[in-house]
Amino acid sequence: MAKQNPEPAKIARLRRQLLEWYSRNRRDLPWRRNPDPYSIWVSEIMLQQTRVAVVVDRYQIFLARFPTLVSLAQAPEQDVLALWSGLGYYRRARMLHKAANFVANQLGGNLPASSEALRMLPGIGAYTAAAIASIAHGEVIAVVDGNVERVLCRLEGWSAGSRANGTALKHKIEDLAAQLVDSVHPGDFNQALMELGATVCLPRNPQCLMCPVAGDCKTKGEHKTALRPRMQSCEVAHALSVRTGRQPNRSGREVLLEQRPASLTVMPGLWELPVLKSAAVPAKKLRMTVRHAIMQVNYYVRIRTVSEDDAEAMTVAAGERRWVSITEAGGMALTGLARKVLTRAHLLAGAPRDAIAPEPAGDVL
Ligand code: SF4
Repeated sequence: MAKQNPEPAKIARLRRQLLEWYSRNRRDLPWRRNPDPYSIWVSEIMLQQTRVAVVVDRYQIFLARFPTLVSLAQAPEQDVLALWSGLGYYRRARMLHKAANFVANQLGGNLPASSEALRMLPGIGAYTAAAIASIAHGEVIAVVDGNVERVLCRLEGWSAGSRANGTALKHKIEDLAAQLVDSVHPGDFNQALMELGATVCLPRNPQCLMCPVAGDCKTKGEHKTALRPRMQSCEVAHALSVRTGRQPNRSGREVLLEQRPASLTVMPGLWELPVLKSAAVPAKKLRMTVRHAIMQVNYYVRIRTVSEDDAEAMTVAAGERRWVSITEAGGMALTGLARKVLTRAHLLAGAPRDAIAPEPAGDVL
């Protein structure tokens, strides 16, 4: 594909229109109120694969507990994972924690300023490095996420592409984004382009009448956007076993939890409800059915109430088990599914969340 060279006048016009639109229309999000590098870093990691509405809530709780990079580095990993519960894809939390440790111990607690140095840290790829460097430090570097890709493809009338031309198209998009990024306000410009994709140039229903760059758009909504791959379905069943508290000096109820072995590649160390030996649950024993979407799979999860006496015989013993007080369970590193079930069973406070969008790789149920 030939290199695209937009006219200087068009570039200047797009920059001005996008920056003006962003200054008037940007959403009031907590990480925009205090744009220090650490909080931007946390928000960018959380926003990968998770909806903004969910991140807003979890971000504020996380920052209240870990207000600085050093406080995050000093925390036990299980505490970090517990605060990540509800966001899913725990590998992100582990990498964030690992990188915070490295920065605290090897770099004197100073997060690098350049995108090049940021990319050396665990869990920080090209996108996150560019976002932190441009927003927090004004580095003139383009940020290209899925929203930016869609906006630029529609602006230029580029087909969403097939596997055959995918790499060439990706390079074209990156090249155009690099030419467009504003040299005076790179952070705001990048956020403007992403915000336009998130709120106006929507995947299925672009709001072209509200678009600040419609005058330069070659498609104005008449553009095919690649559809998401079809979700697969899977059925599993877990036991919800609750008893009266027995531990000294403790009252209330306890729930049986099992820790996923550290040797697993997916969600190692997290606590979940024991898996039932049989996924077939009689209707009168069914406590609830929960849908839990992870990656490209919709899990339909049957939850059966199981007495303490039956728990061992009816479930698969795969890891360390503990009877945990409900209060303690709320602060543990639970899987998203376990937290959802305990919340829907009114054992834990808070609204259940279907927070997680499918992602191409990472943790799975
Ligand atoms: S005019 Fe429509 S299709 Fe073009 S960039 Fe704006 S919202 Fe997207």
